[in-house]
Amino acid sequence: MKEKDMAKAKGHVSFDEDRCKGCALCASVCPVKIIAMDTNRINKKGYHPAGVMQMDKCIGCASCALTCPDLVITVEKVS
Ligand code: SF4
Ligand code: SF4
Repeated sequence: MKEKDMAKAKGHVSFDEDRCKGCALCASVCPVKIIAMDTNRINKKGYHPAGVMQMDKCIGCASCALTCPDLVITVEKVS
């Protein structure tokens, strides 16, 4: 696959936010470093929930979803 085509591989990530415990494991494995804890918000468990800052940079690799111990994350491939 050409680099240009790789850049087009995208994903859409959604978070079942109230299940998140803010452990940041998902952020640590994201190859494009677009996940961060949202320090402006607090979920039902009392944590700053994880979120994607720049969805257009997501490559849809699903590493975040596979890593999350609490099954918070769903990744959909977007073409
Ligand atoms: S699917 Fe991959 S690139 Fe997208 S947010 Fe998750 S770890 Fe990052
Ligand atoms: S790995 Fe799961 S529980 Fe931990 S911060 Fe990410 S979404 Fe939240």
